Amino acid sequence: HRTESLLTATGAAAGYHGVPAVRGLDLAVGPGEVVSLLGPNGAGKTTSLLALVGLLPLMDGSVTALGRPVSARRPYLLARRGVALVPDDRGLFHGLTVDDHLRLSRRKPSPEREKLIFDTFPALAGLRGRKAGLLSGGEQQMLAVGAALLGEPRVLLVDEMSLGLAPKIVQEMLPAVRDLARAEGIGVVLVEQHVELALAVSDRAVVLNHGRPVLTGAAADLLKRRERLEAAYFGAD
Ligand code: ATP
Repeated sequence: HRTESLLTATGAAAGYHGVPAVRGLDLAVGPGEVVSLLGPNGAGKTTSLLALVGLLPLMDGSVTALGRPVSARRPYLLARRGVALVPDDRGLFHGLTVDDHLRLSRRKPSPEREKLIFDTFPALAGLRGRKAGLLSGGEQQMLAVGAALLGEPRVLLVDEMSLGLAPKIVQEMLPAVRDLARAEGIGVVLVEQHVELALAVSDRAVVLNHGRPVLTGAAADLLKRRERLEAAYFGAD
Protein backbone atom coordinates (compact mmCIF):
# COMPACT_ATOMS: atom_id res chain seq x y z
CA HIS A 1 0.00 0.00 0.00
CA ARG A 2 1.03 3.53 -0.57
CA THR A 3 -0.06 6.55 1.39
CA GLU A 4 0.07 10.10 0.15
CA SER A 5 3.14 12.01 1.35
CA LEU A 6 2.51 15.26 3.19
CA LEU A 7 6.14 16.31 3.14
CA THR A 8 8.80 14.99 0.78
CA ALA A 9 12.47 15.88 0.43
CA THR A 10 14.48 14.58 -2.50
CA GLY A 11 18.22 15.08 -2.54
CA ALA A 12 17.76 18.24 -0.54
CA ALA A 13 20.77 20.38 0.37
CA ALA A 14 20.90 23.54 2.47
CA GLY A 15 23.45 25.46 4.47
CA TYR A 16 25.00 28.76 5.30
CA HIS A 17 27.13 31.26 3.38
CA GLY A 18 27.11 29.06 0.30
CA VAL A 19 28.36 25.99 2.14
CA PRO A 20 25.92 23.07 2.53
CA ALA A 21 25.44 21.84 6.10
CA VAL A 22 23.17 19.04 4.89
CA ARG A 23 23.22 17.22 1.54
CA GLY A 24 21.32 14.43 -0.13
CA LEU A 25 18.43 14.45 2.30
CA ASP A 26 15.61 12.12 1.23
CA LEU A 27 12.55 11.95 3.44
CA ALA A 28 8.82 11.32 3.15
CA VAL A 29 6.18 11.75 5.82
CA GLY A 30 2.62 10.55 5.36
CA PRO A 31 -0.51 11.18 7.44
CA GLY A 32 -0.17 9.84 10.97
CA GLU A 33 3.48 8.94 10.47
CA VAL A 34 6.39 9.91 12.67
CA VAL A 35 9.84 10.25 11.12
CA SER A 36 12.86 11.01 13.29
CA LEU A 37 15.98 12.88 12.27
CA LEU A 38 18.80 11.60 14.45
CA GLY A 39 22.50 12.31 14.69
CA PRO A 40 25.17 13.89 16.85
CA ASN A 41 25.62 17.61 17.50
CA GLY A 42 26.27 19.55 14.34
CA ALA A 43 25.11 16.71 12.07
CA GLY A 44 22.66 18.99 10.25
CA LYS A 45 19.35 18.14 11.91
CA THR A 46 18.20 21.70 12.61
CA THR A 47 19.40 22.79 9.17
CA SER A 48 17.28 20.02 7.65
CA LEU A 49 14.16 21.17 9.51
CA LEU A 50 14.69 24.78 8.44
CA ALA A 51 15.06 23.68 4.82
CA LEU A 52 11.94 21.48 5.07
CA VAL A 53 9.80 24.46 6.10
CA GLY A 54 11.38 26.97 3.73
CA LEU A 55 13.21 29.00 6.36
CA LEU A 56 16.48 28.19 4.59
CA PRO A 57 16.77 28.15 0.78
CA LEU A 58 17.59 24.87 -0.92
CA MET A 59 21.02 24.64 -2.51
CA ASP A 60 20.09 21.44 -4.33
CA GLY A 61 17.24 18.93 -4.62
CA SER A 62 13.62 19.64 -3.82
CA VAL A 63 11.09 19.72 -1.00
CA THR A 64 7.35 19.35 -1.52
CA ALA A 65 4.85 20.08 1.23
CA LEU A 66 1.13 19.35 0.87
CA GLY A 67 1.59 18.79 -2.83
CA ARG A 68 3.44 22.02 -3.62
CA PRO A 69 7.11 22.93 -3.83
CA VAL A 70 8.40 24.63 -0.71
CA SER A 71 9.63 28.12 -1.46
CA ALA A 72 12.05 29.89 0.83
CA ARG A 73 10.54 33.15 -0.30
CA ARG A 74 7.28 32.62 1.54
CA PRO A 75 7.63 30.34 4.56
CA TYR A 76 4.62 32.04 6.22
CA LEU A 77 2.36 30.70 3.47
CA LEU A 78 3.50 27.21 4.32
CA ALA A 79 2.67 27.80 7.97
CA ARG A 80 -0.77 29.06 6.99
CA ARG A 81 -1.36 25.96 4.87
CA GLY A 82 -0.63 23.71 7.80
CA VAL A 83 3.10 23.06 8.23
CA ALA A 84 4.05 23.92 11.82
CA LEU A 85 7.59 24.11 13.23
CA VAL A 86 8.35 24.12 16.95
CA PRO A 87 11.88 25.56 17.01
CA ASP A 88 14.50 24.49 19.53
CA ASP A 89 14.04 27.70 21.53
CA ARG A 90 10.32 26.80 21.68
CA GLY A 91 9.27 30.17 20.28
CA LEU A 92 7.20 31.24 23.29
CA PHE A 93 6.50 34.77 24.58
CA HIS A 94 7.59 34.77 28.20
CA GLY A 95 5.22 37.54 29.25
CA LEU A 96 2.13 35.84 27.81
CA THR A 97 0.12 33.21 29.64
CA VAL A 98 -0.64 29.66 28.59
CA ASP A 99 -4.15 30.73 27.58
CA ASP A 100 -2.78 33.70 25.61
CA HIS A 101 -0.58 31.35 23.60
CA LEU A 102 -3.42 28.97 22.91
CA ARG A 103 -5.68 31.83 21.83
CA LEU A 104 -3.01 33.21 19.49
CA SER A 105 -2.22 29.86 17.90
CA ARG A 106 -5.64 28.50 17.14
CA ARG A 107 -7.26 28.91 13.75
CA LYS A 108 -10.69 29.29 15.27
CA PRO A 109 -12.16 28.81 18.74
CA SER A 110 -12.60 25.06 19.20
CA PRO A 111 -13.37 23.76 22.68
CA GLU A 112 -13.02 20.14 21.44
CA ARG A 113 -9.56 20.73 20.11
CA GLU A 114 -8.54 22.59 23.23
CA LYS A 115 -9.76 19.65 25.30
CA LEU A 116 -7.67 17.36 23.12
CA ILE A 117 -4.56 19.43 23.88
CA PHE A 118 -5.24 19.37 27.63
CA ASP A 119 -5.96 15.62 27.46
CA THR A 120 -2.65 15.14 25.69
CA PHE A 121 -0.73 17.35 28.13
CA PRO A 122 -2.71 17.23 31.40
CA ALA A 123 -0.01 19.20 33.25
CA LEU A 124 -0.97 22.29 31.25
CA ALA A 125 -4.58 22.28 32.43
CA GLY A 126 -3.81 23.74 35.84
CA LEU A 127 -1.47 26.39 34.45
CA ARG A 128 -3.69 28.29 32.04
CA GLY A 129 -3.22 31.66 33.74
CA ARG A 130 0.53 31.31 34.22
CA LYS A 131 3.05 33.25 32.15
CA ALA A 132 5.15 31.10 29.86
CA GLY A 133 8.36 32.48 31.39
CA LEU A 134 7.36 31.00 34.74
CA LEU A 135 6.74 27.48 33.42
CA SER A 136 9.25 24.66 33.85
CA GLY A 137 11.17 23.49 30.78
CA GLY A 138 8.83 20.54 30.32
CA GLU A 139 5.73 22.68 30.71
CA GLN A 140 7.10 25.17 28.18
CA GLN A 141 7.72 22.37 25.73
CA MET A 142 4.19 21.02 26.22
CA LEU A 143 2.85 24.53 25.63
CA ALA A 144 4.93 24.99 22.48
CA VAL A 145 3.79 21.66 21.03
CA GLY A 146 0.21 22.12 22.29
CA ALA A 147 -0.04 25.59 20.76
CA ALA A 148 1.33 24.28 17.46
CA LEU A 149 -1.26 21.47 17.49
CA LEU A 150 -4.05 23.95 18.18
CA GLY A 151 -3.20 25.55 14.83
CA GLU A 152 -4.50 22.31 13.26
CA PRO A 153 -1.33 21.48 11.33
CA ARG A 154 -1.17 18.68 8.80
CA VAL A 155 2.57 18.44 9.33
CA LEU A 156 4.32 19.12 12.64
CA LEU A 157 8.10 19.42 12.93
CA VAL A 158 9.62 19.56 16.41
CA ASP A 159 13.25 20.43 17.05
CA GLU A 160 14.61 18.63 20.11
CA MET A 161 11.46 18.31 22.11
CA SER A 162 13.54 16.65 24.81
CA LEU A 163 16.12 19.42 25.15
CA GLY A 164 16.71 20.01 28.84
CA LEU A 165 13.90 17.70 29.90
CA ALA A 166 14.04 14.80 32.34
CA PRO A 167 13.86 11.43 30.53
CA LYS A 168 10.65 10.66 32.40
CA ILE A 169 8.93 13.69 30.84
CA VAL A 170 10.28 12.80 27.40
CA GLN A 171 8.91 9.30 27.89
CA GLU A 172 5.47 10.79 28.45
CA MET A 173 5.54 13.49 25.79
CA LEU A 174 6.78 11.54 22.79
CA PRO A 175 4.07 8.85 22.91
CA ALA A 176 1.44 11.53 23.57
CA VAL A 177 2.47 13.35 20.39
CA ARG A 178 2.65 10.09 18.42
CA ASP A 179 -0.85 9.06 19.54
CA LEU A 180 -2.34 12.42 18.65
CA ALA A 181 -0.58 12.41 15.28
CA ARG A 182 -2.01 8.98 14.50
CA ALA A 183 -5.50 9.89 15.66
CA GLU A 184 -5.52 13.11 13.63
CA GLY A 185 -3.50 11.98 10.63
CA ILE A 186 -0.79 14.56 11.23
CA GLY A 187 2.65 13.87 9.75
CA VAL A 188 5.40 14.44 12.31
CA VAL A 189 9.14 15.04 11.93
CA LEU A 190 11.10 14.84 15.17
CA VAL A 191 14.66 15.95 15.71
CA GLU A 192 15.86 14.03 18.74
CA GLN A 193 18.95 13.39 20.81
CA HIS A 194 17.24 10.58 22.72
CA VAL A 195 17.73 7.98 20.02
CA GLU A 196 15.95 5.05 21.64
CA LEU A 197 13.01 7.06 22.89
CA ALA A 198 12.62 8.63 19.46
CA LEU A 199 12.81 5.29 17.63
CA ALA A 200 10.24 3.83 20.00
CA VAL A 201 7.61 6.27 18.71
CA SER A 202 8.79 6.57 15.11
CA ASP A 203 7.82 4.75 11.93
CA ARG A 204 11.09 5.60 10.21
CA ALA A 205 14.30 7.42 10.96
CA VAL A 206 17.14 9.11 9.14
CA VAL A 207 20.53 9.23 10.85
CA LEU A 208 22.61 12.23 9.78
CA ASN A 209 26.32 12.53 10.27
CA HIS A 210 28.50 15.35 8.98
CA GLY A 211 25.56 16.69 6.99
CA ARG A 212 24.77 13.46 5.15
CA PRO A 213 22.18 10.77 5.69
CA VAL A 214 24.24 7.72 6.68
CA LEU A 215 21.45 5.34 7.69
CA THR A 216 17.74 5.33 6.86
CA GLY A 217 15.14 2.76 7.71
CA ALA A 218 12.14 1.53 9.62
CA ALA A 219 12.50 2.46 13.28
CA ALA A 220 11.88 -1.14 14.39
CA ASP A 221 14.71 -2.38 12.15
CA LEU A 222 17.11 0.28 13.39
CA LEU A 223 16.33 -0.66 16.99
CA LYS A 224 17.17 -4.29 16.17
CA ARG A 225 20.43 -3.49 14.43
CA ARG A 226 22.04 -1.53 17.18
CA GLU A 227 25.66 -1.85 16.00
CA ARG A 228 24.80 -0.34 12.65
CA LEU A 229 22.91 2.43 14.35
CA GLU A 230 25.77 3.22 16.67
CA ALA A 231 28.30 3.09 13.85
CA ALA A 232 26.17 5.53 11.84
CA TYR A 233 25.62 7.77 14.80
CA PHE A 234 29.18 8.00 15.99
CA GLY A 235 30.49 7.26 12.51
CA ALA A 236 33.99 7.89 11.28
CA ASP A 237 34.69 10.98 9.17
P1 ATP B 1 22.65 20.11 17.31
O1 ATP B 1 22.20 18.77 17.73
O2 ATP B 1 23.91 20.53 17.98
O3 ATP B 1 21.57 21.16 17.34
P2 ATP B 1 22.29 19.81 14.43
O4 ATP B 1 22.38 18.40 13.98
O5 ATP B 1 20.94 20.39 14.58
O6 ATP B 1 23.11 19.98 15.77
P3 ATP B 1 22.84 22.04 12.72
O7 ATP B 1 22.41 23.05 13.72
O8 ATP B 1 21.95 21.79 11.57
O9 ATP B 1 23.16 20.66 13.42
O10 ATP B 1 24.27 22.46 12.19
C1 ATP B 1 24.91 21.82 11.10
C2 ATP B 1 26.17 22.59 10.76
O11 ATP B 1 25.84 23.91 10.31
C3 ATP B 1 27.12 22.77 11.93
O12 ATP B 1 28.42 22.63 11.45
C4 ATP B 1 26.85 24.19 12.38
O13 ATP B 1 27.99 24.76 12.96
C5 ATP B 1 26.49 24.89 11.10
N1 ATP B 1 25.56 26.02 11.33
C6 ATP B 1 24.38 25.95 11.96
N2 ATP B 1 23.77 27.16 11.97
C7 ATP B 1 24.60 28.02 11.32
C8 ATP B 1 24.53 29.42 10.97
N3 ATP B 1 23.49 30.16 11.32
N4 ATP B 1 25.59 29.92 10.30
C9 ATP B 1 26.64 29.17 9.93
N5 ATP B 1 26.75 27.85 10.21
C10 ATP B 1 25.75 27.27 10.89
